[in-house]
Amino acid sequence: DAWDASRGQDETVLVTIRIRPISNPSDSNAWSTLMDAGSSRPRTIRLADGSRRDWHFDQILPTTASNAETYLTSALPHVRSAMLGYNSLCFAYGQTGSGKSHTMSGTSQSPGVVPLAVEEIFRIIKRETTREWVLRASYLELYNEALGDLLAPEGSKGEVTILNGKKEGEVRINGLTEMVVTNVGEVKKVLNIGEGRRRTGCTDWNERSSRSHSVFRIVIESRAKGGRDDDVRGKNKATRISTLSLIDLAGSERATDNKERNAEGKHINQSLLTLKNVISKLAEQSAKKTTGHIPYRDSKLTRLLQTSLSGSARISVICTINPAHSAVTESQSTLNFAAGIK
Ligand code: ADP
Repeated sequence: DAWDASRGQDETVLVTIRIRPISNPSDSNAWSTLMDAGSSRPRTIRLADGSRRDWHFDQILPTTASNAETYLTSALPHVRSAMLGYNSLCFAYGQTGSGKSHTMSGTSQSPGVVPLAVEEIFRIIKRETTREWVLRASYLELYNEALGDLLAPEGSKGEVTILNGKKEGEVRINGLTEMVVTNVGEVKKVLNIGEGRRRTGCTDWNERSSRSHSVFRIVIESRAKGGRDDDVRGKNKATRISTLSLIDLAGSERATDNKERNAEGKHINQSLLTLKNVISKLAEQSAKKTTGHIPYRDSKLTRLLQTSLSGSARISVICTINPAHSAVTESQSTLNFAAGIK
């Protein structure tokens, strides 16, 4: 499928809807999808009961799509872009229980975007023998507007702050632990340390994971073997540096719940809405070849990701929905979010 290999690399923003299977047998499916002519996947979705509205997206993955297929269509092109020197990001957005963690982490039987991306990275490194590579992994959590370093050494508080970088519009993340990784096993270890830290010290893990954003990031540096440093700015690009960011967002139900009065809920609202605005502006400016103000500063999440998002970044947004009747309102809100991106 040539589409898989090329698309994500050319498009600035790819929006995918992933529909999870219905888990409760007494609940039934409220949605239907439509195949568009000339497309290998459905791209239109509407409510099955006499449709009020059609939503159109780059692609819709039905309940039968596996984690492997989700990865191939929505993340593999971005992993390849990152290895070629473009900043690349993959987000999972959706209501709690709609399948974000299943998509990003998956299970040992059915690994998700993160483990499959890691395997691909080292497969490429093995193949690209004319370059030498240095990879550094970091793992952050943004909870209640506080950034936590999930790889901080024992005994350290793991406080991380965002500062202005040397270059205009760039940010520097101060205090962040970065671990050099040289094989799949080492990255898995790093992920396990981070997961462990996320769970310890919180009394209600489900509540916490639904309210926090997690950002797993790999900085990828490569250099042509025997390349000269003065090639950096030249055509040969002896040295390339880019980041791959894989992000499991907080549950989107907070973004629509007007009754939510506490600060935490408002922060989640603000960060998800700002993320939509930022990605949507990036998509628009890239399509029209214009430049202009991007509101990175409106939330800590976009501020954290500012350097990675700016400068021809490749962005994949996977929006997960539960197709059951009981979740129609939340699914509509997720589709509205996704439709607002581009
Ligand atoms: P979220 O991260 O959005 O809160 P989860 O990924 O934890 O949701 O999914 C909730 C439950 O549903 C989990 O037990 C998960 O394994 C299951 N699940 C979600 N999506 C799928 C899917 N596409 N196929 C099979 N099981 C799924």
